[in-house]
Amino acid sequence: MSTLIDLHSHSHNSSDARAANFSAYEMVEAAIRAGISIYSITDHCEVNRFFSEAHYGGRMSEYKYETYDNGLDFEKSMAENAECKIKIADEKKNIKFLSGVELGQATLDFGLSESIISDRRLDFTLASVHQLDGLDDFAFIKYNEYSDDDLFALCEKYFCEVKKLCAWGKFDVLGHMTYILRYIEGSAGRIVNINLFYEIIRECFKLLIHAGKGIEVNTSGLRQKYGKTLPDINVLKIYHDVGGKILTLGSDSHTPADVGKGISEASEMIKKIGFKWLVFYEKHEPHFINI
Ligand SMILES: [Zn+2]
Ligand SMILES: [Zn+2]
Repeated sequence: MSTLIDLHSHSHNSSDARAANFSAYEMVEAAIRAGISIYSITDHCEVNRFFSEAHYGGRMSEYKYETYDNGLDFEKSMAENAECKIKIADEKKNIKFLSGVELGQATLDFGLSESIISDRRLDFTLASVHQLDGLDDFAFIKYNEYSDDDLFALCEKYFCEVKKLCAWGKFDVLGHMTYILRYIEGSAGRIVNINLFYEIIRECFKLLIHAGKGIEVNTSGLRQKYGKTLPDINVLKIYHDVGGKILTLGSDSHTPADVGKGISEASEMIKKIGFKWLVFYEKHEPHFINI
């Protein structure tokens, strides 16, 4: 069996996994049980929510799960991941554990983003767009109040933001490209003609390739209503066509039960497209593994 890697998971140091309440060590134990050889915790650090609520002059939206102090969470995550690494080494566990971060909304403050990802404890930076300035996280937008044209415009804004992120390019890997579709097509059941965004997606990929950066294949969509990886096979074919070679895999698990979910399936799909390697990062150095 080929080496299984899962480089995207959240522990209790992520606000949206706090209720589930699993430590980094418990998640690693689940990864071992799932047959994962290389595993990373990538707790959220939302750049636009790095400081306290007061810093932003009060709440930014009416979203009830709105969180602040992501900077404090980041520090807790880095400290716990470092301890977890030592414990795993002491116990001679058969897994490589890497300390990552899922950096959200870097485009809203590049300076702060650079200072966050310069943390020397980090192996791996996954950069994601979960939210556009002035709007809720995509998970909480009421898409059914949008006309088809407005929905199209929202998607266009999302892809423009992703392109801005790719042009900055100071991370290792772009997280869950097409994330907005998890909610528009998945949760809300609305259809968007994604083909109309293939050109901007191609431009994003070219920017990443030029900068030596990669993309993630996020398997969370497989266990959700969306039913596909993020990005899906057609978008991954575009990445392959433009010469993309750096791919990571991530379950985006928030509980031990989801660790490693969809990873074998996604590996097979990637191989069929023609990709030769999967990649993991240690101290931001890419390591290639034959699929
Ligand atoms: Zn994410
Ligand atoms: Zn995530």
